[in-house]
Amino acid sequence: MKVLVDGSMCVGHGLCEAAVPEVFEVTDEGFATVRQGEVANTDPDRIRSAVNSCPACALTMEE
Ligand code: SF4
Repeated sequence: MKVLVDGSMCVGHGLCEAAVPEVFEVTDEGFATVRQGEVANTDPDRIRSAVNSCPACALTMEE
């Protein structure tokens, strides 16, 4: 599974980071990045929930 952030849509308020901090990190530049190496080690339901909860629809998952 791969998780993608559209940096042009992300507004950087950090809901994803708060929900799954081992996978998502909001950078000093103000948008989220994904630690792809942690995705496989993380409960996919938690990631899916964070993706679906992004208010800017900036996150997508490729199963
Ligand atoms: S929840 Fe969405 S808009 Fe907010 S920081 Fe994460 S990717 Fe960006």
